[in-house]
Amino acid sequence: KIAIKGLRKGFRALQVIDGIDLEVAPGEFVAIVGPSGCGKSTLMKLLAGFERPDSGAVAIDGVPVTRPSPNAIVISQHGSVFPWLTVRENLMFGLPGKDRAADVATADHYAEMVGLKGFEKAYPHELSGGMLKRVEIARALAVKPDIVLMDEPFSALDALTALRMRNELLRVLREENHTVLLITHDVEEAIYLADRIVVLSSRPTRVATVFPITQPHPRKVSQPALQEIKD
Ligand code: ATP
Ligand code: MG
Repeated sequence: KIAIKGLRKGFRALQVIDGIDLEVAPGEFVAIVGPSGCGKSTLMKLLAGFERPDSGAVAIDGVPVTRPSPNAIVISQHGSVFPWLTVRENLMFGLPGKDRAADVATADHYAEMVGLKGFEKAYPHELSGGMLKRVEIARALAVKPDIVLMDEPFSALDALTALRMRNELLRVLREENHTVLLITHDVEEAIYLADRIVVLSSRPTRVATVFPITQPHPRKVSQPALQEIKD
């Protein structure tokens, strides 16, 4: 469980986050929307342990977040794959490294999961923007984080690729029960993917509204029903 309590963060004279309280249950998918500059990325950095709060706290399963950890991993707008490593090597980067065969199997499993089967030995420059994004998502998931933090992961992609990716992401995240926080400018994307949408106010930033998504939801379709759709 993610617990955010009385969270405040500013930069010099600029008060950005001004008292955010929010809880996210295990396995829940929460989308965060809000005006540009309101502090969404700052909130994500606080959750990931890249920044420290001025006051208040962020805790994951009761443990205060004080530094970055593979338990809460960030997928950001800006890619971060290593150009000198193949897809497989990129995916193996955060793995234990004790048993190479096991790490290769894990890397290839996640490559297949995001539709990159056959590209394990390709280098990043041989891939499209959408494929690079898949490498990043696969690499994040391969370390089996409890929490996946996504900061506008699709904003650098064209509309069609973004649409395709979000459908795929939904499928991938459904296969493993991750807790997800997604920052997006795209309200439609938020409605499509999330269980709850948290709207932030403009600065100084607080939670303005929380919308539960109550309509039948693709993420909530049961496994047998999914199997029928696949067949
Ligand atoms: P966008 O939707 O455009 O991505 P955002 O909601 O993610 O915006 P943030 O990146 O969190 O906004 O920035 C919020 C405010 O905090 C901005 O005014 C920004 O200039 C400021 N800010 C963020 N990080 C720092 C920093 N390290 N030092 C100083 N100011 C910062
Ligand atoms: Mg941002």
